[in-house]
Amino acid sequence: MEQFQELLNTNPLLLLAYLIGSVTFIMGLKMLSHPETARKGNLIAAFGMTVSIFATIFLYKAHNGEGLHNYIWIFAALVIGTVVGTMAAKKVQMTAMPEMVSLFNGMGGACAMLISLIEYRNDAAPPMGKLLIIVLGMIIGTISFAGSIVAWGKLNGRVKDKTIPGGQIINFLIFGGIIALSIMVVGGFTTGPALFYGILALAAMYGILFVMPIGGADMPVVISLLNSFTGVAAAFGGFLYNNPVMLTGGILVGSAGTILTILMCKAMNRSLKNVLIGSFGAAKAGPAGAAKEAGNYKEISLNDTAVLMAYAQKVMIIPGYGLAVAQAQHTCHELEKVLNEKGVEVSYGIHPVAGRMPGHMNVLLAEADVPYEKLLEMEDANDQMGGTNVVLILGANDVVNPAAKDDPSSPIYGMPILEVEKAEHVIVNKRSMKPGYAGIENELFFRPKTSMLFGDAKKVLQNLVSELKNV
Ligand code: NDP
Repeated sequence: MEQFQELLNTNPLLLLAYLIGSVTFIMGLKMLSHPETARKGNLIAAFGMTVSIFATIFLYKAHNGEGLHNYIWIFAALVIGTVVGTMAAKKVQMTAMPEMVSLFNGMGGACAMLISLIEYRNDAAPPMGKLLIIVLGMIIGTISFAGSIVAWGKLNGRVKDKTIPGGQIINFLIFGGIIALSIMVVGGFTTGPALFYGILALAAMYGILFVMPIGGADMPVVISLLNSFTGVAAAFGGFLYNNPVMLTGGILVGSAGTILTILMCKAMNRSLKNVLIGSFGAAKAGPAGAAKEAGNYKEISLNDTAVLMAYAQKVMIIPGYGLAVAQAQHTCHELEKVLNEKGVEVSYGIHPVAGRMPGHMNVLLAEADVPYEKLLEMEDANDQMGGTNVVLILGANDVVNPAAKDDPSSPIYGMPILEVEKAEHVIVNKRSMKPGYAGIENELFFRPKTSMLFGDAKKVLQNLVSELKNV
């Protein structure tokens, strides 16, 4: 409060800019929660961030009345960051989005870590409160940085899942070491920087070892958790610099990340503890995982599919990762329109972890202008499944795997799924009998109601649309 009062008296324009920044962050975040307003929300928050950055550069004054200098360094960094960020965001494939989020999140953690390192170097004997904030910011920022880089490596296949023998005990010991050293440094029981840098090294080790054994399929939860860590670390930076907008931004990221982590755990019906130490999908996870085929499956022709769908009353489309890979969202929307013209009611059943990032399917279908009301959340989709004539599964696998309900030995047991078998007919489009992300067999493909429609989702949908026009 004191700091606000001080800013109001000494630099009201800067305070106004920070207020604009904070308000736009909150508005932006609110708008991000709906696909129709998400794009605008992002732009509004980015505008607020730009105002805050430039206000800090040009209006900030230290206690001695001096403003920032080092303009060449600041603007060089701004230009490089803007160019790299823009190019990365433009170039990235939808399917590689979680990787990018993880990498960018790691950069946020690294910034928080660097802020603490610089503040420690600049202030030879900071008061205990300030030192505590410096140390906490460094620990959390470093864990987030190191963990996010490992997560990035795992998602792009450069780092393999590794369960280290006794890993949990080692992590526990490292964590204990971090706390012990922090007490010594902050409590003033030691002088000199050696222990401070010791905390840095332990935090980096902890970040790496904590993410290393987590199974591939749990990565989104971990990334979201690390994201909330970065937010908290940035909030500590806000404290250090008496910077209200950094504080608000950090708290918002921290709380949004925490809420998303909880929601994702709920979607998988798992506790956070189970995600962090359960090694779900580890070793077996990843697209390379092999599965043996169980029994016989039957295929359906394009023509039969078209007839079945054209004469249906209700069709539900279940999109999955394969739809994103094939970039078939626009053709999928076309199929929906052709069916609508024939009087068929079409909806989409969206599983919360379908695809490779939270909200992946919503973003994908919004890109193709699919009306938002047609997207049913898992519970609603399951409620409506009974009255559905045809379910068309497009490149989804784990999210419709009945083993999650029926097989206690399955690594995905307990995860809620889209219960497609309640519908009259189930048609599955994928390219082969290969497993999905969790690397496990899917019984659904061999069940009596199911027919396989093999091929790349985009090509199959294009052909299906032409067939339907002739029915
Ligand atoms: P899956 O990964 O289970 O299955 C996708 C299927 O798509 C594959 O079996 C593949 O079969 C098929 N496919 C691939 N390319 C194409 C193509 N071009 N045309 C048609 N089909 C294709 O996807 P789901 O969406 O069902 O499940 C998501 C999984 O990813 C879950 O295990 C989830 O936990 C995990 N995950 C989710 C994240 C999230 O935040 N949403 C992030 C990271 C992981 P074939 O090769 O035979 O074509």
